[in-house]
Amino acid sequence: MPRCPFCNKEINELYVQGWECAVTRYYVHLGEGGKWLEWEQRDCEAYDSGVDHICCPLCERALPIGESEMEDFLKGELLLVRREEVEIIDEECATYNGKTYEIEDETDEILCLRPARTVQAKLSVS
Ligand SMILES: [Zn+2]
Repeated sequence: MPRCPFCNKEINELYVQGWECAVTRYYVHLGEGGKWLEWEQRDCEAYDSGVDHICCPLCERALPIGESEMEDFLKGELLLVRREEVEIIDEECATYNGKTYEIEDETDEILCLRPARTVQAKLSVS
C-alpha cells in the first residue's frame, strides 16, 4: 500500500482539492407576497475543471504528484520517499528497502521513485 512521506502512514486514497467552473441556469420569480426574488436552479453544467492539490487524507499535506500520477501512486507503481530514507546510487537511481528504483523527480527532499525494471535487466546482462 502506498505510504505518505510526511506522516509515514499507509494510505489507500488521496484527498484532492479541485475546482470547477460551471454555467448555472435559474428560473427567477417573485416569492410569496411579491417582496423578494426566488431563484430556482434549472441546471448546472461544468465547462472546465482542474485539480489544485493532491494531499494525504490523514495529515492533509500536499503530495508532490500530479493528476496523471495519482493512479500509479495508489497502485504502488510510484513511490514518494524522503531523501534520508533512500540510498542514492547516482543521479538516476536509488535503493530503498533493498530494491532499486529510478528517481523520476525530487521536490523538497521528497523523491519520486519508480521500480527500475530496465536498470535491473541491464545489470543482469553485464
Ligand atoms: Zn500524511
